[in-house]
Formats: sequence, C-alpha cells, structure tokens
Amino acid sequence: MPKQSTTRKTKATCSFCGQAGNRTETLIEGPDNVYICPDCVELCHNIIRQNKKQQGSGSGSLKKGSRPREIKEYLDRYVIGQVHAKKCLSVAVYNHYKRLLHGEGGGSDIELDKSNVLLIGPTGCGKTLLAKTLARKLEVPFAICDATTVTEAGYVGEDVENFLLKLVQAADYDVEAAQRGIVYIDEIDKIGKTSQNVSITRDVSGEGVQQALLKMLEGTTANIPPQGGRKHPEQSYIQIDTTQILFICGGTFVGIENIVKKRLGKQMIGFSSELVQQEDSPHDANVLEQIIPEDVIEYGMIPEMVGRLPVITTLAPLDEQSLIDILTKPRNALCRQYECFFEMEKAHLEFTEAALKVIAVKALKRDTGARALRAITEELMIDLMYDLPEEPEGSKYVITKDIVNGDVDISAARQLPKKESA
Ligand code: ADP
Repeated sequence: MPKQSTTRKTKATCSFCGQAGNRTETLIEGPDNVYICPDCVELCHNIIRQNKKQQGSGSGSLKKGSRPREIKEYLDRYVIGQVHAKKCLSVAVYNHYKRLLHGEGGGSDIELDKSNVLLIGPTGCGKTLLAKTLARKLEVPFAICDATTVTEAGYVGEDVENFLLKLVQAADYDVEAAQRGIVYIDEIDKIGKTSQNVSITRDVSGEGVQQALLKMLEGTTANIPPQGGRKHPEQSYIQIDTTQILFICGGTFVGIENIVKKRLGKQMIGFSSELVQQEDSPHDANVLEQIIPEDVIEYGMIPEMVGRLPVITTLAPLDEQSLIDILTKPRNALCRQYECFFEMEKAHLEFTEAALKVIAVKALKRDTGARALRAITEELMIDLMYDLPEEPEGSKYVITKDIVNGDVDISAARQLPKKESA
C-alpha cells in the first residue's frame, strides 16, 4: 500500500522521472523505497484513462448490464411510473449500441438506422430526469440543451452547434467520448413552424432551426467553435461527427391531443357511432398514447425531422399517488434528502402519510408536475431548517397534515405527541 504523501523528502527522488523530493510538494511512498511524484501520478492517470477509453469504445460498449431490462430496472430506481417511456428508451439505447457494434464489425450491408427518441409529456413529469438517469447508467457524456435558445444563422441567438459544444464540454473536451454521448434537447415543440407557443424572445420562424437540427440528428460532421458563440472565419474549430450521438428530444406539445382527437374522430365517424361517443370523453393521457408521427407533423415539426425521431413515446401526467411516491421512493427522493439534512444535525425527521398526501394534492393544483413538490416542501421547511442547527441534538420532528395545511405552526413539528387523526 502506498503511504500517504510524505512532504519534502529531501533525499528521495521519484522512481519514475527522477525528480528530487525537495523539488516537488509531495512524494508518495511505496514499499522498498519506491516514490512517485504528482506529475507522474497524473501521467499514469492519463494512460489509464486512455486505455479505458479505447476498451470502452470497442465492443465493450454493449456490456452486460446494458440490456433493455437492466436499463429499465436502473431507471426504476430514480424515476417513478412512466413504464412505457422507460421501455422505449431502454430499447432505443440498446439498439443504439448494437448499431455501433454492427458498424464497427463491418461485413454486413444492412444499414441500421439511428433511433433518436422523441418524448412527449407535460412539464415536470420526468422527461429530463429520464434522459439524465440514462446517461448516468451508460456512463457516457450527457448534455441538456434548450431548443428555444437557438435561432437561424444570422439572427441573435445560439447556433445549434452549441448543443454539441455542451456535449464536448461534458466530456472534458474528449471528442471521441462526446461522439458517443447523449444530447437531450428540451422544448423541441417550441420550434414548430406553426407553433402557437412561440416564445416572445424568439422572433424567427422555427423551420430554419429545424433544418439545422435535422442535419445534426441525421449525422454530420459539425464544426464547433471551442468557445461557443457565433462562428467566424478565422476561428479554429473542433470537428465532431454526430452519427453515433443519440439525440433524445423532449417537449410538452401543448394542445397536440386536440390534433389526435380530431384525427381519431375522423376515423371513428366512418365506423360506428359508438366509437364517436367514446371520442367525446377520452382522458387526455389515453389520447396522448395514440400519437402518431403525422400528428407531430401537423403540430408544426417538419416531416424530415419527425422521420429522424423514429421512436415517439408519451409520458403520462403524474397523479396523486405518483407524486407521493416521488416524495419518498426514489434513491434521492425529497423526503430522504430532508431526513439526511436532519440526521447531519443529529435530529430525526418524519413526514406522516397524511402530510405527504396533502403535499401531493397541493402540488397537483400547481400544474407543474413534480417540480411543484420541491417548491412546496422548501416553503414548508424553511423555518425549521433555519432553527435546526441551534436545536438540541437528538430532537425529533414530525410533519403532519395540519402543518402542511397551515392550520398549525411548523414549530409544532418538534416532538409532537401523535394527535393527528390521519
Ligand atoms: P420535464 O418532464 O419537464 O423534463 P423533469 O424531468 O425536469 O421534468 O422533472 C423535474 C423534477 O421533478 C425532477 O428533477 C424530479 O425531481 C422530479 N420528477 C419529475 N418526474 C418524476 C418521476 N416520474 N419520478 C421521479 N421524479 C420525478
């Protein structure tokens, strides 16, 4: 075992480069008078990283553990519900890697198409979380981008290449790694050419942006200015091939269910009046499940772009029970985080079931999905967190539904006798 750094060993030298101990801050000592200086440690680290990269970029990418079932099980640990989206993503990613292998192997003239994914679902239902969790599982660089920040070349705003720059930055400027990464493009619906939701800060038709994005999704060699911003001729560029980058696009597509309903309605009228009646009161989530690419085109995406997003999957709005689960079940659930904060102050925190239910009901009303949970709990806990460091160790706090409802002051949480009817 190497010993902890020994400072200023005057006589010792680094056994790798010969640098004298008195010329370096730290020498790490191994057995039998072997020493290593920080520079050599760094060098070794780089060699190991390079090797790992080379191994990872080969057939190792399709290692055990990246099968669809395993990917989904991993997603289950962090994301509540959204089973269909999880399955679609798991398969898409697995196929993505299979395609990479297929390409490397050569020998076959069947070309496997890229399986970029389009996630459609209301805000705060887990689209970004799914993409982020996926990237963590796959250990590839991951970038989250916002489609509304880009404009057509020549207008104020970013170029689409900046998405790739983000990915390269996420990969620590390791272009090889970036070329196998995942880019999540949020708010893709806001660049629809006939979109009703055009942001007031973006005055340019979305079609040009879609065209630019399209090239990236298809696979192109893009030139990225390393510092970001707009391109100019004297700049040197990083070249990045997007063929193997997996793009996951997400959007709320507000109002798309009307397009689906209209289409379904048309079809149904032709068959039987019974079906027409059903069409009048379908639950929006059920309607969303029936989205087909034509609906997305009708919404304002150009057909070529939709063609490049072959996997379309919808996420359901979160109901009360899902919100309660989100508060408590995922690995880094909000309640667990608060409990952890309290434990660090040697205190104990509990939320009663009734309290969780009230938080979920309140969150539902805000209509921002699970995002509201954090806002509500932050507001709720602020006074308690403020006083906590000054409270005696070993205190116990119970958050009840009356506290969440505001009927009782939060200070009542401390060592409450169980009087709640729940
Ligand atoms: P969007 O669908 O708008 O991209 P996000 O994925 O960014 O929403 O969700 C916002 C936050 O809400 C996440 O960081 C996560 O904490 C929580 N959240 C949303 N959906 C889920 C879910 N299905 N399971 C667990 N947490 C979720």
